[in-house]
Amino acid sequence: MKVGGLAALVTGGGSGMGEASARALAAAGARVAIADLDGAAAARVARDIDGIGIETDVGQETSAVAAFQRARDAHGPVRLLVNCAGIATAGRIVGREGPLALADFERTIQVNLIGTFSMMRLAAAEMAALDPLDTDERGLIINTASVAAYEGQIGQAAYSASKGGVVGLTVPAARELARHGIRVMTIAPGLIATPMLLTMPDEVKESLVATTLFPHRLGQPEEYAKLVLAIVDNVLLNGEVVRLDGAVRLAPK
Ligand code: NAP
Repeated sequence: MKVGGLAALVTGGGSGMGEASARALAAAGARVAIADLDGAAAARVARDIDGIGIETDVGQETSAVAAFQRARDAHGPVRLLVNCAGIATAGRIVGREGPLALADFERTIQVNLIGTFSMMRLAAAEMAALDPLDTDERGLIINTASVAAYEGQIGQAAYSASKGGVVGLTVPAARELARHGIRVMTIAPGLIATPMLLTMPDEVKESLVATTLFPHRLGQPEEYAKLVLAIVDNVLLNGEVVRLDGAVRLAPK
């Protein structure tokens, strides 16, 4: 589909890869709504790109429904959903204090997996009612997993499980939504220089970069945004998880 004029909703668009995607989409002519837990960050990015910022918790149903309503009122029904909202959690299954608190596991699943699914289902329902574009598409949903879905490190059980769920959703969602002309793609980033990663201790960052083959550096959020634009442009990309990772394979720790 063509980006120009598209109504897009980007979750987690107040920071990192979501922010870079929102800016790139707007620069290419999309009308962008930014749904982020950090309402001030969403508003800041929205101001820059002539979009709208919506304080949203993707894991809460009423908040998610309200975000689509606000986006629809401003830009019309959403054609493109980019799900970037997420939290990085760490904690051993059995740590010094005993077993991982179930609430920590639940919170990770609630935001990263249930939040992604919730936004996807609401977007798909809205897209299915639209007229098809000249490519026969009605909409596109791009989710964000992680390479931790495949080789999560020690301490990443909850995070990896949440991202593994996002990977697992990709094919059944693409299969089911195909009859509506809705594509579903997932990007599995490696190590990207966003606030989520940059706030980690230096030695952790260094050990992570050490396993990145080429280019031997952290990825940039703009490189994620470039892939979003490529997926929008290429109608044949569907039902696939694309690793965006410089061939990194995470070590056990
Ligand atoms: P980021 O800079 O921390 O941005 C994530 C944004 O999502 C933040 O603005 C955050 O708000 C927001 N958010 C958190 N919980 C939310 C919720 N319940 N509802 C709505 N918004 C929420 O992180 P990023 O690195 O760009 O991450 C984007 C996605 O990529 C995430 O799903 C992450 O798991 C995934 N990922 C990141 C990397 C990496 O190396 N950076 C690698 C693989 C996958 P607050 O700041 O208020 O929490």
